[in-house]
Amino acid sequence: MPRPRDEFIGKMKEILLRRRDALRKALAGDLSLLKELEQTSGDVVDFALDSVQDELSSQLAEVESRELASIDTALEQIKAGKYGECEGCSATIPIARLQALPYATLCIKCQRELEELGPDGVSWAQTDDTQAVN
Ligand SMILES: [Zn+2]
Repeated sequence: MPRPRDEFIGKMKEILLRRRDALRKALAGDLSLLKELEQTSGDVVDFALDSVQDELSSQLAEVESRELASIDTALEQIKAGKYGECEGCSATIPIARLQALPYATLCIKCQRELEELGPDGVSWAQTDDTQAVN
């Protein structure tokens, strides 16, 4: 019996490969493949890229280029058997997190630590009412 995690990663690889093709096409001005993918793979992974359905702006092209780079990184990790492994602490990133964030390279704990260090992505509104010490 295959391990569910291996099965998930195998499925993710397929999705990533197809999405990479679609994004490449979209960057070349053809959104048809991407739209098709949004409809067929939406139940497996939520890529949250509804905006792609709008017309391709240069800003969008930038987002897609960045996503392409993330896909390449994820595919390399799959190849190396390291997909879903936290780059910070080597912990196994839960499948649920990977489903929500297919390109996550950090576990939730390391991601939080990173967000606390950098000015980017920190939402002060979301901190609870206990004061941060340190
Ligand atoms: Zn970690």
